[in-house]
Amino acid sequence: MMQLAELSDYIGRLLEVNRFRDYCPNGLQVEGRAEIQRLATGVTASQRLLEAATAWGADAILVHHGYFWRNEDATLTGIKKRRIAHLLQHDVNLLAYHLPLDAHAELGNNAQLARRLGLVEQGRFGEQDIACYGELKIPQTLHQFEAHVGQTLQRVPLIIGHSERLLRRIAWCSGGAQSYFEQAVTLGVDAFLTGEISEQNVHIAEETGVAFIAAGHHATERYGVQALGEHLVQQFNIEHRFFEMDNPV
Ligand SMILES: [Zn+2]
Repeated sequence: MMQLAELSDYIGRLLEVNRFRDYCPNGLQVEGRAEIQRLATGVTASQRLLEAATAWGADAILVHHGYFWRNEDATLTGIKKRRIAHLLQHDVNLLAYHLPLDAHAELGNNAQLARRLGLVEQGRFGEQDIACYGELKIPQTLHQFEAHVGQTLQRVPLIIGHSERLLRRIAWCSGGAQSYFEQAVTLGVDAFLTGEISEQNVHIAEETGVAFIAAGHHATERYGVQALGEHLVQQFNIEHRFFEMDNPV
C-alpha cells in the first residue's frame, strides 16, 4: 500500500516545492489516513469537491487551490470549519500545490494549457518565471483562435481585440494573471491569454492593440492536477479520478 509520506515526498521533489515563495503552504495541508489507494484530484477544495471525492472513497484529495492563504482569516469558522470538519471526519488527506503546479515544465497548468492550445513555449516571464511566451503552432486570426480556445476548453472566452488580427506570438498564464498583461505587451506579443480579466485590461488592449483573451480561471487550471494524477498512477499502484466541478469563472 502506498504510504502518504512517500507520496507527498515524491510530489514535493517532482514539483520542486521548496523553490517557490507562495501565498499558501504547498504539500500536505490537512492530514488524514497514512495509506493511499484512491487519489481524487480537482481544481479547488470546495465543499462540493470534498463531498464528491469522499463519496468515491478517496484516501487523499489533491488540488490546485487549497486552504490557509496568506491574509485570510485564521479562524476555523463558517465554510472553512465545515470543509475541515468534513476532511477530519472522513480521515482524508488534503494535498495542495499552487505556484509549483502552475510552473512545472511538463505537468504544470501552463505547460498543459500550451499542449492543448497548440502553443510553443520560448521563454518565461512574470513572478518567479511562471508565465510563458512563445508562438502559435499555426498562426491564425483572433477570430479563429477564439473558436479554437472555446472548443478546446469548452468555455466561451471573453476577448478584447480586433477579430481579424493575425496572431503569431502569444503570452499566457493560467488562472488570475491579468496583472501580467502590461509585461506581456512589452514582450511584443500579439495576444495575452489568462483566466480572468479586470476592467483596466480592456483599455490596455484597446490602446496597445494587443488582444486580451480571458479563457476562464477554472478552465485554464484544470489540466495540471489531471496531468499530475495521471503521472502518479504510472509511478505508483494507486487509483486516480479527476472531479470536474463546473465553475463559470
Ligand atoms: Zn488559480
